[in-house]
Amino acid sequence: MKARKQNSQSDIRIGFGYDIHRLSAGRKLILGGVHIPHSMGLLGHSDADVLLHAICDALLGAAALGDIGKHFPDTDKRYHGISSLILLRRVGLLLKKHNFIVQNIDSTVVLERPKIGHYVLHMRKNIGTALGIRADRISVKATTNEGLGPLGAEEGCVAYAVASISSKPDP
Ligand code: MG
Repeated sequence: MKARKQNSQSDIRIGFGYDIHRLSAGRKLILGGVHIPHSMGLLGHSDADVLLHAICDALLGAAALGDIGKHFPDTDKRYHGISSLILLRRVGLLLKKHNFIVQNIDSTVVLERPKIGHYVLHMRKNIGTALGIRADRISVKATTNEGLGPLGAEEGCVAYAVASISSKPDP
């Protein structure tokens, strides 16, 4: 009886995502689907967009649908060099198929250099377009690691994300 009542109401869920990629010379730096000019980029099987990967995991986590590695394994040649905006779009469609609506996303990128504040609005628009939601429901924040540890030494970039989703109420 209790379960039935729960199912008849809108169901709010949250999910958390984390990702890290190594910085490497000779790679493009792509964050939130934006190419940011820099001497190094992120190493990975896809375009290594650490921010979008953390967001994908937050969305999949909220829906209890596994993680990005389960849906897009880095051993699969189809995902070699793929834009992570395509992966994010697919995650959005998967949630839609499971009757979920994305409410909002908050995220933080930890990167020592370069400063990425100027690119944040573009990233938010890209994420909103991929998911079919307004950019004012998407937050992207940037910080440095204050020179501490491997992130401070510019060996890599980390992203954290939380997402809130809701299920469409039963008609
Ligand atoms: Mg990744």
